[in-house]
Amino acid sequence: MSTAVEVTSAISGVRHSLLVSGAWREATGGRTFTVEDPATGEGLCAVADASPEDAIAALDAASSVQLSWARTAPRERAEILRRAHQLLLARIDHLAMLITLEMGKSLLESRREVSYAADYFGWFSEEAVRIAGEWKVNGTGDGRIVTMRQPVGPCLLITPWNVPLALPARKVAPAIAAGCTMVLKPASQTPLCALALAEVLAEAGLPDGVINVIPTSTSGPTTKPLFDDPRLRKVSFTGSTAVGKILLGNAAANILRVSMELGGNAPFIVCADADVDAAVRGAVTAKMRNLGEACVAANRFLVHDDVAEEFTTELAARLGSMVVGSGLDPATDVGPLIDTAARDHVAALVDDAVDVGARLVVGGAATDGPGHFYPPTVLADVPRSARLWHEEIFGPVAPIATFTDDEEMVRTANDTQFGLVSYLFTRDVGRAVWLSERLESGMVGLNRGFVSDAGAPFGGVKHSGLGREGGSVGIDEYLEIKYVALDVPPG
Ligand code: NAP
Repeated sequence: MSTAVEVTSAISGVRHSLLVSGAWREATGGRTFTVEDPATGEGLCAVADASPEDAIAALDAASSVQLSWARTAPRERAEILRRAHQLLLARIDHLAMLITLEMGKSLLESRREVSYAADYFGWFSEEAVRIAGEWKVNGTGDGRIVTMRQPVGPCLLITPWNVPLALPARKVAPAIAAGCTMVLKPASQTPLCALALAEVLAEAGLPDGVINVIPTSTSGPTTKPLFDDPRLRKVSFTGSTAVGKILLGNAAANILRVSMELGGNAPFIVCADADVDAAVRGAVTAKMRNLGEACVAANRFLVHDDVAEEFTTELAARLGSMVVGSGLDPATDVGPLIDTAARDHVAALVDDAVDVGARLVVGGAATDGPGHFYPPTVLADVPRSARLWHEEIFGPVAPIATFTDDEEMVRTANDTQFGLVSYLFTRDVGRAVWLSERLESGMVGLNRGFVSDAGAPFGGVKHSGLGREGGSVGIDEYLEIKYVALDVPPG
């Protein structure tokens, strides 16, 4: 278990102020807010609390260097990203500690998040030098169609608390690669990782003003003036669908480019022909990674009747043996949920499911005492009327229902307004293909409980969002296509 001295040194090893135009400074009027440790409910530190004026100052900074940054040689941008990749990995111990302290998950999981965040800088360092256009002869032969891809312009990046380093990284790295400047507004519950990331970027050589960071406890009023300012050209948001809809409305005023990575309600499907051991391993990952506090967390388990008992028993054994405790304790598998409201939400969903007829197999009772702990829980025979079948659980609860017919199962899997990811376990290649094609989601985990990869296009359909992050298309979110019509009279 980390000592109090190690905790204090991790917290004091990161700035607690705003970053505007390369200067670390207090918020207007010296306002601050407190960041809490979800394992104890106690305050960790005070962080500068940006006002709308501070947000405009950040946009001033971003827009004043947009032109010069866009003209920076691609190789130079690539080298900054490559150095950031190396620095993140070199600081893995400190950054993992910060993630665990402000978000709660175990140090092992936090270390994985640091590597995942670094992957985006590695990936986009390679993409920065591959921004291409095209040249072709027009249909009538008397002209040429020339296209180029140019940076969108200053971006507002808004990120959630559940993956506090890698989700900012997934936006910041492609924006830098594309030649965009930015204002980053991290979640108020987890601003420290975003501030640490900005320090890494400064050390990697990112010019002043390219990234500006504005933690705030008043996200709506503080960011609204940015949406109304014609200098802002894009918003990239990761968070809940409810807030995403508000921001889409805000973005309409100035017709901003938008990327929206929103909520999920992932089905986890186990067919009769599945390798049940592999499905259980995949289920543990898809459910328990990030404590279930993930947009890609398996939310509804649909298991064929023939294998349901074996799958349920095995999954309950695996989840029931996980150790719940502070993320700083090396023995811990499952840390605390982010706050009391999150724990109460999970508890209410479980109680509702039991009330309408679900069977509690393991877990099911919130832990008393400080911190926001909830034990891994498995529910069987969950009726479709249970609230958790339709709402994002965002906690370590696995609700299981059975099916006998593939057509009925696909209808059930798709019967949600969300469409981020589906997990599918089957050994039949034909079934794997047609089910992957029929499932209404942006991603499918096929015999695999984990889809996140810097080299893959991450994103959803329906209410799960717009656009893709990562992969070879991730940089497109930060680029505009310009077409030049060349007049070439026949020679
Ligand atoms: P949230 O409440 O929507 O907040 C996300 C971010 O938006 C935070 O920085 C928040 O700031 C800010 N915000 C809230 N209201 C705002 C407003 N009116 N104007 C501007 N900014 C505003 O979501 P969350 O609870 O942090 O995160 C959980 C949600 O994120 C889940 O639904 C999850 O599925 C989704 N998520 C999606 C993905 C994906 O890639 N699809 C990945 C991770 C998470 P404050 O902290 O100050 O409220």
